Amino acid sequence: MKHLALLLFSAALLAAQTPPPAVVVLKPARVFDGVALYENWIVVVRGERLESAGPAAGLPAPAGAKVIDLPGATLLPGLIEAHSHMLLHPYNETTWNDQVAREPLALRVARATNHLRVTLLAGFTTVRDLGTEGAGYADVGLKQAVEQNIIPGPRMLVATRAIVATGTYGPRGFAPEWTVPQGAEEASGVDELIRVTRDQISRGADWVKVYADYRWGAHREAAPTFSIEELKAIVETARSSGRGVSAHAATAEGMRRATLAGVETIEHGNEGTADIFKLMKERGVAFVPTLSVGNRDTARRAMFKAALESGVTIVSGSDVGVFPHGTEALELQLLVDFGMTPTAALTAATATAARVLHLEKDVGRVQPGLFADLIAVDGDPTRDIGTLRNAAFVMKGGAVVKGP
Ligand SMILES: [Zn+2]
Repeated sequence: MKHLALLLFSAALLAAQTPPPAVVVLKPARVFDGVALYENWIVVVRGERLESAGPAAGLPAPAGAKVIDLPGATLLPGLIEAHSHMLLHPYNETTWNDQVAREPLALRVARATNHLRVTLLAGFTTVRDLGTEGAGYADVGLKQAVEQNIIPGPRMLVATRAIVATGTYGPRGFAPEWTVPQGAEEASGVDELIRVTRDQISRGADWVKVYADYRWGAHREAAPTFSIEELKAIVETARSSGRGVSAHAATAEGMRRATLAGVETIEHGNEGTADIFKLMKERGVAFVPTLSVGNRDTARRAMFKAALESGVTIVSGSDVGVFPHGTEALELQLLVDFGMTPTAALTAATATAARVLHLEKDVGRVQPGLFADLIAVDGDPTRDIGTLRNAAFVMKGGAVVKGP
């Protein structure tokens, strides 16, 4: 009884200490709402959510609101990175093999805390992290550390270990008698894949990441790994829980199998063809091209042109970790360099990314009711996508993390 009274007292104390939601009015030169650009809008934030957005003339600032002037700047939704690896650092610093095989978990997690901070400061307020590459379930703990405000970072969707076909991944190069821990979880056959999918979900995976192909070909080239039947087992298991599957696929056949199996996003797609992108569009599969990594040659440009012409949904995701964290805006620059309009690239990193990642009720637009995840850049990113490389202002859930 005494214990209960104490509990009630604590609850009352907590309630009394919770301040009324703060109101902030943002006054930029223009607002990109995730789809289109508007001049002379203001945006009102109450607590952690957006309250209203619209023409300044029709929206008087609420009494007592804190006003933040952002002259000359464009306010837009916090950017979404659909393909990151917070537990990797650039391969020109340390090879992937050595990161996986020689770096202690604590070292990798310590680095990842820095990666999360610089990502948020760069204006990316949400990331989908697609595999820890040998760091187990550390992404689950990092996500909790951000949610509990222990470290600054973007909102995280995590995949934990990711799934690879037995014998197709790395590290490699050891005596065949040795069994070497791998950078992702190996599995084969429908039963085992169902078990591993459920296991990763139970340990915290928001998305299931599968490698539909990898460099295990006769000449170490990329080649399909799982059968369609195996991929379907993963997709049906994940879908039963309400989760989506992301497939790494560089080959046309890997992309085709992943699409027919029902994955929701395909990553990389280096050898994608007009026919494959048409199939993806028909089946509602989104494409995350990760142009920031790998070749930027004529073949890659032709692939991306085919994707654009097919009308397949394109989501911005860079594979950051392979290159330095905090520079994810490179991907938007490359989407434009490869033929997208700046407005379409911005939508691919905001409204479309939120929809594809099932987050549209919370992020990705400047829209009443959503989280106040907002950034501002000097100038107009719908004219010059390069402005995104310098986020002057970053707000996450109504809290200013960078800027005035
Ligand atoms: Zn990746």
